[in-house]
Amino acid sequence: SNIDYASYLKGWIRAVPNWPHDGVMFRDITPLLQNPKTFRMLIDIFVHRYMDQKIDLVAGLDARGFIIGSVLAYELNVGFIPIRKKGKLPFTTVAEEYELEYGNATVEMHTDACKPGDRVLLIDDLVATGGTMMAGYHLLQKLGAEVVEAAAIIELPELGGAKLVRDDGLSLFTVCS
Ligand code: AMP
Repeated sequence: SNIDYASYLKGWIRAVPNWPHDGVMFRDITPLLQNPKTFRMLIDIFVHRYMDQKIDLVAGLDARGFIIGSVLAYELNVGFIPIRKKGKLPFTTVAEEYELEYGNATVEMHTDACKPGDRVLLIDDLVATGGTMMAGYHLLQKLGAEVVEAAAIIELPELGGAKLVRDDGLSLFTVCS
């Protein structure tokens, strides 16, 4: 079951204390990605969840959402759209600013990345405060997309972000918590 896979996969995520600064326990997914078996297990969990759902596009959040999102899009035979940090996209963009622990951040998406009514799956590696996922959700809503679900490998329940996302009416699927 997914529960067994989840605890196994969790063992391939490295916790790095005090990175990028004091007090943060960083969840490093590179060991999981580096191992072909765990990389495939992870992607297969998402593929099996979404293969029978009507999805037009996968939107990946900068930067680890690109790694899993693009592979998932390929497997689902749908297109991939990047949601990037400010200043990286060359064409006209829509932007959404959100709050971080210290200061603000902005994410952007091309205005022609999706069209009204498109059914989009939003994906990132991890939900901490939920700010990044919600910013991506709001961007997609600005273009009239229907966000089918938000997905991530990990949610950190102690930060309350996953609850915040779900309380805002966005379905959130995570593999490990
Ligand atoms: P948040 O917006 O607070 O939910 O943070 C989620 C975003 O920041 C994701 O793109 C994560 O990759 C990154 N992030 C936040 N906290 C961590 C953490 N403890 N370990 C790894 N990545 C994190």
